[in-house]
Amino acid sequence: MISTSFQSLDDVLKEFDLTMGLEVHAQVDTKTKVWCFCPISVGQAYENHYVCEICSGHPGTLPVLNEEVLNKAIRLGLALEGKIAPKINFDRKNYFYPDLPKGYQITQFKNPIVFDAKMEWDHTDSKKIIRIERIQIEEDTGKSTHHQDYSLLNYNRCGTPLLEIITAPDFHHPDDAVVYLKKLHAILKHLHICRGNLQDGNFRCDVNVSLSPKGATKLGTRCEVKNLNSFKNVEKSIIYESIRQANLLKSRGKVLQETRLFNMQEGKTYLLRTKSDADDYRYFPEPDLPSIFIASSKVKDILSQLPELPDQIKNRLQSDYGLNHYDASLISQSFDIVHYFEECVRNSSDPKNYAKKIANWILTELFRFLNEYNKEINDSPVRPKELVELISILESGKISHKQAKEVFAEMFDLKKSPSEIIASKGFEQTSDEGELKSILEKLILNHPKELEGIKSGNARMVGFFIGQVMKQTGGKANAQLATELLKKLIDQQ
Ligand SMILES: [Zn+2]
Repeated sequence: MISTSFQSLDDVLKEFDLTMGLEVHAQVDTKTKVWCFCPISVGQAYENHYVCEICSGHPGTLPVLNEEVLNKAIRLGLALEGKIAPKINFDRKNYFYPDLPKGYQITQFKNPIVFDAKMEWDHTDSKKIIRIERIQIEEDTGKSTHHQDYSLLNYNRCGTPLLEIITAPDFHHPDDAVVYLKKLHAILKHLHICRGNLQDGNFRCDVNVSLSPKGATKLGTRCEVKNLNSFKNVEKSIIYESIRQANLLKSRGKVLQETRLFNMQEGKTYLLRTKSDADDYRYFPEPDLPSIFIASSKVKDILSQLPELPDQIKNRLQSDYGLNHYDASLISQSFDIVHYFEECVRNSSDPKNYAKKIANWILTELFRFLNEYNKEINDSPVRPKELVELISILESGKISHKQAKEVFAEMFDLKKSPSEIIASKGFEQTSDEGELKSILEKLILNHPKELEGIKSGNARMVGFFIGQVMKQTGGKANAQLATELLKKLIDQQ
């Protein structure tokens, strides 16, 4: 029995250092498989329909590398500031499993296409830097489905190209793992390397978790949790695994090296197999694929076609639109948010002046509603054009800030235009100078004591007059304009 002396991650972190390395398998978005011309099956394809002699491992067949996979691997390597190997090899990883008809997987062991890459982001006062040790090209396996007394095999997925992205053990908190995965996911999608559909298994993550006594230099024994397909599950499985290992270390003094699976429903990890080391797979150079020399002109070519990356966008948002560092970081965290923001700016009449206001509305009201309704920005019922229309109306002084927020809430709920909602709510502010002036003149005449108050420096009395104006206009007066008019009238006396 596992003792339950540790209940939470905070408990664990008081006594242990948590260390993690992440391995992501991203399915490369190509038309055909990595070694043959079988199409990649998407959605509900017939079982074993997209299979040929090569991807099902018939004797005498030979694999040929799909160049698009190589190009996309280089593209990712460059985006992550990695080094591109001048010469690459493929290796065989030997193991038996029914979903692997060849009896081995072709992967990269000795000379992967990318090495020494990195991912960094701002974290409070410092920079978080995660070293990405290598990115390798490999093939996916088939799929087994297990039933009560039989199992079914579908080889459609055999030979689907994958990029495996392997970090150094640089993570010490689940929050950092989630930030890294979200950033990597956004880059893969933005660069059209991977479709990134988590539910379809396009982007799967393995986490190696280990604990060591606080301050120890030697890392503890690690357990690998495999095939996590959501950011939330990554976080939950790390927390569960940390607590499980801490309790094992406390009660038995050691953790066994294992490969484990995360059960979503129960929020627990379960033993899949005791871990095999690299030696057990008897890696050897793939004899059917030659070494490939990567021309520097090819790398330069791919580099020249690389689009703007998140950090570059963040700098541009600051220099072009005058956003502060914090707002620019939040907007550049996802390309969808950047597109939404820039679409708003394009729709505004005075981009320089509006950019900051647009950013504020996106980061406060829009984000609040998206969160509440569990929607992504691309599905926002309030489109950029309408948000800018609302901001323009607010800036013109027709409605107050408080009213603008109410209008926004209805825009989100009812998908109506801001002017429609303002008209139906009777929100228009009175900016009629003549009307406001005559109200104020009467108020000044009838309230000499309060007027004296203002003259002798009692600023609170300004509030009294504006309050009265609001009362008489049913709350529709433009308060800013009324205040200006009041000042003018007093100065004229
Ligand atoms: Zn095939």
